[in-house]
Amino acid sequence: MSVIPGPTYRGRFAPSPTGPLHAGSLVAALASWLDARAHGGIWIVRIEDVDTPRCVPGADELILRQLAACGLVSDEPVVRQSRRGTLYQAALDRLIADGVAYPCACSRKDIENALNAAGLGRERHHAAVYPGTCRPERGGLHGREARAWRFRVEPGKLHWTDRRLGPQAQDVATEVGDFVLRRADGLWAYQLAVVVDDAEQGITQIVRGEDLSDNTPRQRLLQQALGLPVPSCLHTPLVMGDNGEKLSKQNGAQALDLAHPLIALNQAAQHLGLPAATGSLPDALSQWVNAWPWRDLAPV
Ligand code: GLU
Repeated sequence: MSVIPGPTYRGRFAPSPTGPLHAGSLVAALASWLDARAHGGIWIVRIEDVDTPRCVPGADELILRQLAACGLVSDEPVVRQSRRGTLYQAALDRLIADGVAYPCACSRKDIENALNAAGLGRERHHAAVYPGTCRPERGGLHGREARAWRFRVEPGKLHWTDRRLGPQAQDVATEVGDFVLRRADGLWAYQLAVVVDDAEQGITQIVRGEDLSDNTPRQRLLQQALGLPVPSCLHTPLVMGDNGEKLSKQNGAQALDLAHPLIALNQAAQHLGLPAATGSLPDALSQWVNAWPWRDLAPV
């Protein structure tokens, strides 16, 4: 395999165990593994099971078996977010102490009403931008009970460079608003958990599906606020379902066929612009490592 020497590369694949791996999630899994191998790095699997109501019992073990059938095995013990609440709480405590996290009493309906009252009715399918009702300078909880914790976003455009998508920009304040760190149901929000784990696991490179790209600026704001290193990122092309949306269980994604992993891997590789590979599974993986196009670890 041709490996680029360089500083320690640590990457991860972080599936949510909401169902088995399918053709779409395999693209992200394969890409993260190939990128790690092409840079002589470490590849770690992290099971993102914080959103427990969405988790399917047994899906974590099934995903690990599917990955193993594809020759993709975590270089370090698999980490499960559901066991890491203490780390997330410590990060939240720090953000509260620094005055950048505040409690929020608003329900979804409250937020919608506040936006409508301000003439800011949101477009269909777009998440509501939190209007800042519970910001401390706006009177805080207004005597209501705290439900969630939010991160305070200051106005300003954040710029970053994605290794595949190129220069990106987002104004989190106007496009997302103060976002949730701990949900009203007590569960940890993805944004906080992912940032804490990436730092705690020493992740230097994030490779994941393009649908997650617009989370990057929120995660960078949290990394800045917590004084954490900022990994660089590469977002992979999405596989679309018949309805033109990202392939998912809801629009007919089939679980990977464990009996024929090379067929599924070849499809995933083709989606990444890699040539069809022949021979054994290890041979195929090695051919794709050699052909991996994103060799430069661009500045973040
Ligand atoms: N758990 C997320 C998902 O399955 C991925 C998180 C990430 O890679 O940052 O969509």
